[in-house]
Amino acid sequence: MGDLRYFACGETTHDMAQLLHGAARERRVFPSGVFLWEDGDRRVLYDTGYAPEPWKTGLAGWVYRRLLPPRVPPGATIAERIDPATVTHVVLSHLHPDHIGGVGVFPDATFVLHAGLQRTLVASRVKDGVLRGLLPEAFPAGRRVVTPVFDSTDDRIPGLSTFDLFRDGSYMIVDLPGHAQGHTGALVEGAVLLAGDAAWGRDLLGQEGRIRRVPRAIAHDCAAQASLASTLLDVERRGVRLAFSHDHHPNRIELH
Ligand SMILES: [Zn+2]
Repeated sequence: MGDLRYFACGETTHDMAQLLHGAARERRVFPSGVFLWEDGDRRVLYDTGYAPEPWKTGLAGWVYRRLLPPRVPPGATIAERIDPATVTHVVLSHLHPDHIGGVGVFPDATFVLHAGLQRTLVASRVKDGVLRGLLPEAFPAGRRVVTPVFDSTDDRIPGLSTFDLFRDGSYMIVDLPGHAQGHTGALVEGAVLLAGDAAWGRDLLGQEGRIRRVPRAIAHDCAAQASLASTLLDVERRGVRLAFSHDHHPNRIELH
């Protein structure tokens, strides 16, 4: 059995009344979650959190920071929390700034990149919210890349397409369509599903109909996201725990 650790690599705040119809005016803190699974010599990182300041990301970066102001205190970035050289694989859930800030500190890791996410890297639109200035030049050129082929299903999470990273069921890459093109999750040891930004938080899963126009505009495919939500709720009822990127979690997440 491996070990699943959690790091909050910076955070943002957002007014809940601007996010959801019918929500009270209240600024909620959304930590930027990174999850490290270790088992023997496998060390798989799910997302990389925020980049250290300053960001050289131009006008698009300025707009993004107005909407979702990042707070990255000293010591918060993933490179300051773990030794990047020990990480063997980096899975990116998607390419939004709060998930890719640490990509550059893993030159030797194998990147697991959904084909849809690779398409976004080649041709991103403003709506995709990709700040190229946060990524290494020409990324993923020069990196070892695994492209998941979602050809399997898993009884533990029916209704979702999976790719078995190590061919032993321990770490399943999961297609979670909706939030962004190529949005990706991971089922760790069949116990915990890292669900990225499939929802803003567990309490907001299934509340997609309440999301306001502006935050809705950022989503890649709202209908897919709503349909995914009901699948995830079903998966949870079967005993799999859901871990979203922007919820608060303990430093060590129990796997069994
Ligand atoms: Zn996010």
